[in-house]
Amino acid sequence: MEYRKLEKLNVAPSLLGFGCMRFPVTPDQQIDEEKAKALLDQSIANGVTYIDTAYPYHEKKSEAFVGRALSKYKRADYFLATKLPVWMITETSQVRAYFEEQCLNLQTDYIDFYLFHALNKERWENIKKLKMIEEVEKLREEKKIRFIGFSFHDEYPIFEEILTYKDWDFCQIQLNYVDTNIQQGLKGYDLATERGVPVIIMEPVKGGALAKLPDEMEKVFKGIHPERSVASWAFRYVASLNNVKVVLSGMSDMQQVEDNLKTFTDFKPLNTKEMLAVEQVTKIYNSRQMNGCTGCNYCMPCPYGVDIPGNFAIWNRSAIYEDMNKGQSKYDALDDKKKASACQTCGVCESKCPQSITIIEDLKKVSKLFEKK
Ligand code: SF4
Ligand code: SF4
Repeated sequence: MEYRKLEKLNVAPSLLGFGCMRFPVTPDQQIDEEKAKALLDQSIANGVTYIDTAYPYHEKKSEAFVGRALSKYKRADYFLATKLPVWMITETSQVRAYFEEQCLNLQTDYIDFYLFHALNKERWENIKKLKMIEEVEKLREEKKIRFIGFSFHDEYPIFEEILTYKDWDFCQIQLNYVDTNIQQGLKGYDLATERGVPVIIMEPVKGGALAKLPDEMEKVFKGIHPERSVASWAFRYVASLNNVKVVLSGMSDMQQVEDNLKTFTDFKPLNTKEMLAVEQVTKIYNSRQMNGCTGCNYCMPCPYGVDIPGNFAIWNRSAIYEDMNKGQSKYDALDDKKKASACQTCGVCESKCPQSITIIEDLKKVSKLFEKK
């Protein structure tokens, strides 16, 4: 297992982190504890020391399960990361109350990496208004938290504002090789590096989308390493960035665990030839997109209720993965009010789109494609 030192914090967790939001589940959607424990045990036995959970994962049951599953290990042998559900907080005193509940569930009296969860502009304003940072700092003074950071889901200017607000111990961002310009993008990674803030990566495989690619793209990777999985390329891409200290993977089965362990044991960053292959695959991926919607949500809300990014995501995904059937069933599952065909062409959305997408025109195309009948 590769371990990277976070110089600033003087700790060296495993480069592969176990994300606890996609445990295997039973038919009634509860965590399959036996299977999930086996995944954690196998990962820990092979050197994983960074375990990342959060208050809302698995309908708020992830933390308590993780607490039970890790109780047999020595607390000092692993790093525990969890997150404050900032959107649920309406009074400053709730910060401590949530933290204590989390510690109780996790069967610990301290958290190594404590994050303000999924920050965006609105949540950030609320954090400042309710002085949540000051509350979390108090917990650190009491030695209940070791390191303070945040995870992020918004656009670059907000990222810059948050990152430069204080001297953060670390930050957690979403990054993968096809989305280097989405959300904070690589520009945000560079800013964190410049400011000496260590980076933890989430969704390196784009929610599983980069674990299985259409033949044309898969061939590029298999032509170089026939024995390596397609997913391993996505992990190696982000882990090749020097200031990335942990790469999270929400592992759901033993095959993923074993494949990831292979990737991160005796880890090798991408070489020039491999990097060119990633660029080639990205080019094909982008050329298949129907439009450049990044899902940023700036065009929302639509006064008539159309889910603009949702429609474009279905359209783009079905084109990239050549899977019209899946696209059709996803479109059919949308509430009628949210469908592209509900657009009243009022024009409110178009001027808000940073990608200058002709939203009305494109929604017509989506509607024509999926509502042939
Ligand atoms: S143009 Fe259509 S999608 Fe855009 S805001 Fe108006 S109704 Fe909604
Ligand atoms: S249509 Fe434009 S504004 Fe709306 S989500 Fe997509 S990229 Fe963002």
